[in-house]
Amino acid sequence: MAKQEDDFKKVISHAKEYGYVFQSSEIYDGLSAVYDYAQNGAELKKNIREYWWKAMVNLNENIVGIDAAIFMHPTTWKASGHVDAFNDPLIDNKDSKKRYRADVLIEDYVAKIEAKIEKEVAKASKRFGDTFDKKQFLATNQRVVDYQEKADAILKRMGKSLENEDLADVKSLIEELDIACPMSGSKNWTDVKQFNLMFGTKLGASAESAMDLYLRPETAQGIFVNFLNVQKTGRMKIPFGIAQTGKAFRNEIVARQFIFRMREFEQMEMQFFIRPGTQKEWYEKWKENRLKWHLSLGLGEENYRFHDHDKLAHYADAAADIEFRFPFGFKELEGIHSRTDFDLSQHEKFSGKKLQYFDPELKESYVPYVVETSIGLDRMFLAVFSNSLQEEELENNTTRTVLKLPAVLAPTKAAVLPLVKKDGLPDVAHKIIEDLKWDFNVIYDEKDAVGRRYRRQDAAGTPFCITVDHQSLEDQTVTIRHRDTMEQHRVAISEVKSIIHKEVDMRSWLQRMG
Ligand code: ATP
Repeated sequence: MAKQEDDFKKVISHAKEYGYVFQSSEIYDGLSAVYDYAQNGAELKKNIREYWWKAMVNLNENIVGIDAAIFMHPTTWKASGHVDAFNDPLIDNKDSKKRYRADVLIEDYVAKIEAKIEKEVAKASKRFGDTFDKKQFLATNQRVVDYQEKADAILKRMGKSLENEDLADVKSLIEELDIACPMSGSKNWTDVKQFNLMFGTKLGASAESAMDLYLRPETAQGIFVNFLNVQKTGRMKIPFGIAQTGKAFRNEIVARQFIFRMREFEQMEMQFFIRPGTQKEWYEKWKENRLKWHLSLGLGEENYRFHDHDKLAHYADAAADIEFRFPFGFKELEGIHSRTDFDLSQHEKFSGKKLQYFDPELKESYVPYVVETSIGLDRMFLAVFSNSLQEEELENNTTRTVLKLPAVLAPTKAAVLPLVKKDGLPDVAHKIIEDLKWDFNVIYDEKDAVGRRYRRQDAAGTPFCITVDHQSLEDQTVTIRHRDTMEQHRVAISEVKSIIHKEVDMRSWLQRMG
């Protein structure tokens, strides 16, 4: 645990030191769970967004992208169920005065049981070596089976109690499991209460005429209310999707873990409109497709897993998370939800407008069903950033800190470095930048010895360093150094662009999805 915490602290301080993420309004001591993306962070975030948009919108003929407003008519949130049901179950510890999400306390307890299972698996895998069959071990080892049954039973009971609004039972469960306040160790709990997560604000100049608004807690509703506009103007035929990226706001109670849980964050969502009855098939397809997208970035297959929900949201008939191994353990990165016709039917009811599709093959009109994929851009940022930050032991017994960001996402693709600040080398370096900057984000760096500049670029995540030396003046060549292997090659200046292009081109990365 201590190592995990330590690793996570390193991630946070590295993000600050290398210009990725700053605490919002830091000079006023910050604002809790609100962050600003700095010069490198803004580029990385933009690249992740583009990687998603390319895969979801540009490469799918039947998916289009929109950009709906953050403010929406307040009835939207009545129809969607957010006014009545977008709640988190809260519990306070009477001694420490700390407030927790009751479901998170229970999930953390279950995560500890799961960690025990992982430990048993690791032990057995060491003992049996190559002959180890994990599946069989999980199914037959009595201790592991007991752990798993216990974990399943707890989650099932919690899911049921939350679904039935039986908050007294959620409290009983916390007491029966003997869960203590992580801060104080006290087990002196209040009752569990519901707390609405939407931020309210007002529209209008005078107090009497002002209209109560909400900052949207998800981007999805901007798509649902535009469903018919997009379908008609785009002449879309079912099945088709509408995608968008944008800010969402939630008054999170337990806002912690850096950019994992923020009060203002960005979502990348896609709602896929389908014929009723085909939702199972599309749900499975999108689960598979989205996992492939993640795997294409090469962060390691072992760092992802699916978690099927026992506790379903009010709109869903099936839901799964893609979980990622963050520095603090496996946690939700993306959700795939089969939302039925809940949202469109609700908007029909509340607006009095028909939101139906005439299916020319079936020759009938219906309210489409929806399967959605919903990922937090900031969480994706944290997944990529934390996974990429590595300390490497080098042969000469030194270590280097290297941020092995997938080259396609790296904020800066190359740094151009004149070996010395004189003899016309800076001019050559600037000329190279003049040419490359039309294709890639590149920077110039002439400060410090070249070895130190390499280390700086390694830590900042720049995949290539291009060094201009005296030989460059004679034969128009430079050395190109690769961040991950630290190998250096002498190449013609005229080749540099195509070498970088080969490694950072989105096409070859996304083609790994198959
Ligand atoms: P959680 O259970 O972690 O609160 P959720 O199930 O409420 O998340 P969804 O409503 O399914 O999340 O939102 C879709 C995605 O948006 C999540 O998978 C996550 O990546 C992202 N997300 C949700 N809440 C936050 C937040 N407060 N900060 C950053 N990202 C978030």
